Amino acid sequence: MLFLLGGATYAVSSLNAPKPQVTQHELQELLNPPGVAAQLNSVLNAGKEMRLYRAETTRSSDTVESLFLRLGVDDQQAASFIRANVQLRRNLLGKSSRPVKVEVDSQNKLLSLKLIWSTSESTYTLMELTRQASPESEAINSNSVFQLHQSILPLHTTVRFASARIQTSLFAATDAAQIPDSVAAQLAEVFASEIDFHRTLQKGDHFTLLYEALDADGEPMGYGKLLGAEFVSAGVAHRAMYFKDKGASEGNYFNLKGQSLKRTYLAAPLKFSRITSGYKMRFHPILQTWKAHKGIDYSAPIGTPVHTVGKGVVRVAGYMNGLGNVVFVDHSNSQTTVYAHLNQFKVKAGQTVEQGQLIGTVGETGWATGPHLHFEFRISDQYKDPSTIARQSVPIVLSGAAKALFDKQAQEFLIQIGSTGNSGDDQVSFLQ
Ligand SMILES: [Zn+2]
Repeated sequence: MLFLLGGATYAVSSLNAPKPQVTQHELQELLNPPGVAAQLNSVLNAGKEMRLYRAETTRSSDTVESLFLRLGVDDQQAASFIRANVQLRRNLLGKSSRPVKVEVDSQNKLLSLKLIWSTSESTYTLMELTRQASPESEAINSNSVFQLHQSILPLHTTVRFASARIQTSLFAATDAAQIPDSVAAQLAEVFASEIDFHRTLQKGDHFTLLYEALDADGEPMGYGKLLGAEFVSAGVAHRAMYFKDKGASEGNYFNLKGQSLKRTYLAAPLKFSRITSGYKMRFHPILQTWKAHKGIDYSAPIGTPVHTVGKGVVRVAGYMNGLGNVVFVDHSNSQTTVYAHLNQFKVKAGQTVEQGQLIGTVGETGWATGPHLHFEFRISDQYKDPSTIARQSVPIVLSGAAKALFDKQAQEFLIQIGSTGNSGDDQVSFLQ
């Protein structure tokens, strides 16, 4: 076999060379099979030591009987042990979607049972029930037969790569690329100060991302952090990489220049979600620009949460002609944001608010032709283009040893995502 393969390789590498000589031998041997009785006997003996493995997931309606039935376990001793053990019963029964694996012998007697569930973002619990005595033993009390052991272990992380192009909406693209929702939400969140997904997303925009997939003992246990992304919108590449400095407990997202993507302001007062993504930006029927209109309108269903784009103090939370139920938030440097036509207020005048805090819900109070949020940005009470708001702030910038470590990771990251687009990092300008 090896010789033949070698010959084939040779033939490919030098077509004009003479064909190698292949010699074939025919071999005949008379086999003497053992009698049927002996064969049967050996199969039966093997069966005694046979171990079978079966896997299932728990259901919230499970009883010991229903679970054993699905797992093909037929073991009264094991059943009574589980019923009597509070710790095991509580974690195995009445919980849904927990992976459970069993090992049984040829008689379907339980040899071991493994149950896992996630304990935190990075750990899972493994509960193992192991049979100590052989199933044939005469033990009456199942407590002496089984031993229960519980341990908390770190989830195993693998990195996944995904890439997609936008045809209709961001979520249609992430669905098509089988990117989990939790990762899609992180993508929108990470670029929340860079890209106003409600307004600027176009067909043909594309993105590439790296994210963590978590598993426990080989079982998929969900997804972790978005590790990095490149989002090419209108030909400009926005990049984000998760970076945690040595000794730091938490990391942040940075562009590849080492500037934090967390800014003083978010790009939009509505979180980009599956619900809001279907709503196109609307212009006032007559006044087609923000200048004439003095703001940006975001169409969204009544009740959609409205968030302040930056930290500040609520100046007004009340009814005004035209604007309806309106919230004014004063930020530093005489900057103010205005949120109008609200249905409900979630803040009061005088209250301090953090960036991203819920301040009200979308409505159609005042002069509104349909449910939408009217959003304004003012500096010293002069109207400014709200789409420039996210750039009005200075980010955290890495330096020294952290920057050196960051640069090394950034190089690897660019290779991993196979980046080709021109960077949008240079476009970031700061007002100070
Ligand atoms: Zn408006």
